[in-house]
Amino acid sequence: MISYLKMEKHVKNYVDDFMNRIIAKNPNEPEFHQAVREVVESLAPYILENPVLQKMKVLERIAEPERVIMFRVPWINDKGEVEINRGYRVQMNSAIGPYKGGIRFHSSVNLSILKFLAFEQTFKNSLTTLPMGGGKGGSDFNPKGKSDNEVMNFCQSFITELSRHIGSNIDVPAGDIGVGGREIGFMFGQYKRLRNEFTGTFTGKGIDWGGSLLRPEATGYGTSYFVQEMLATRNDTVEGKTVTISGSGNVAQYAAQKMTRLGAKVVTLSDSNGYIYDPDGLDEEKIEYVMELKNVFRGRIKEYADRYPSATYYEGQRPWHVKCDIAMPCATQNELDGDDAKALVANGCICVAEGANMPSTPEAIEVFLSHKLLYAPGKASNAGGVATSGLEMSQNSMRIAWSSEEVDAKLHAIMKNIHAACCEYGTEEDGYVNYVKGANIAGFIKVANAMLAQGIV
Ligand code: NDP
Repeated sequence: MISYLKMEKHVKNYVDDFMNRIIAKNPNEPEFHQAVREVVESLAPYILENPVLQKMKVLERIAEPERVIMFRVPWINDKGEVEINRGYRVQMNSAIGPYKGGIRFHSSVNLSILKFLAFEQTFKNSLTTLPMGGGKGGSDFNPKGKSDNEVMNFCQSFITELSRHIGSNIDVPAGDIGVGGREIGFMFGQYKRLRNEFTGTFTGKGIDWGGSLLRPEATGYGTSYFVQEMLATRNDTVEGKTVTISGSGNVAQYAAQKMTRLGAKVVTLSDSNGYIYDPDGLDEEKIEYVMELKNVFRGRIKEYADRYPSATYYEGQRPWHVKCDIAMPCATQNELDGDDAKALVANGCICVAEGANMPSTPEAIEVFLSHKLLYAPGKASNAGGVATSGLEMSQNSMRIAWSSEEVDAKLHAIMKNIHAACCEYGTEEDGYVNYVKGANIAGFIKVANAMLAQGIV
């Protein structure tokens, strides 16, 4: 991303024209506009230098989903009442492989959010070097406070419709916010029952029934490996660094675990109600406690402060004003704004690596880039999750299971490759690596070449 204000006039015109058309065609979809704008601002100079991309309208086609499926999900709650949610699957781009991307269950889910996620996913999946197209799905169903039976009823109804549109060579869903091992189990079970076949149509499966070792850990671990790579460009390491993390779900838990194992001190975690600050840092035992609290008891992060007196809970606040060297937003989109970014810079933060998708607002990104922070957008730094899903697909196809050492080595190599690709396309004249630009161009090239080769489809 080049600062919009510093763009040459013809580049600015291209961006404005492109965005005006996107906004007119997709009204009321602010998250989708935001994700497209970030990519168009990065790619505009590259596209203008390559007229065939303009002529063949490659980026225009990437920004138009190949297919959007929207459906009714009726189910019955424990009181015997009928509930109705809305289900979606956005099949964004299949130029380089079957659609691949998570399923999100959260009350905020709407078409705009899923289109932004599916759009980002297309570039991210391309960056992994594995053959996966981009997709994303979900529902406005809120699993919080629901019994296991209600979650199962919902998942079965959701998959009864979605099963018509997915398959191991068509579209392979995975988890995301509100969808973990329990939900993947219920969805896979219903899919298998309807199709009467055992295939790798979902990733994030249990280890005993086709899952990959290290898939749960992969997004948080991969983001941590990416941080190591970024720091290495400045001859620095994670050891001894203070880290703030938001979220306390899948990505946050394993980011905390890996960063701690690499010798950093993680001092915050959060959920949508507030954050905990533990100046002593989280150790293995505290992280195990958080995993049990969130994954087994489905509790709230404030309970951490009841258990550990060294910690304080801050209701209704986010952790970005806590002094740190490294910040890892791992909760949700737009959770870190311009003021938060300024506070991070003022407090001496040197590195921001996104475990979540699009957690930083455009204003925050502008602050990071103008202060030349090491800043990694989610599509690069959190790609380890989908990369390991790709490894799960490979293992399913070959009907073998790799050891966790093998998967970890492949994940590590993929994260290094993504980092190298970002440096190749994102290094600026003064040597600063603009990871936003690097990730967008590197992710785009492979998809664009495939689309050019496959004609107007
Ligand atoms: P989880 O559902 O496991 O955890 C989500 C965490 O974020 C919870 O702590 C949740 O708190 C918090 N959160 C959710 N919504 C909000 C909100 N509106 N405001 C503040 N906090 C919120 O999801 P994941 O850890 O899997 O996903 C987190 C992020 O990482 C998402 O952006 C996702 O798209 C991205 N991601 C996930 C991957 C994966 O493999 N799982 C792969 C790549 C990216 P609460 O309990 O209160 O809702």
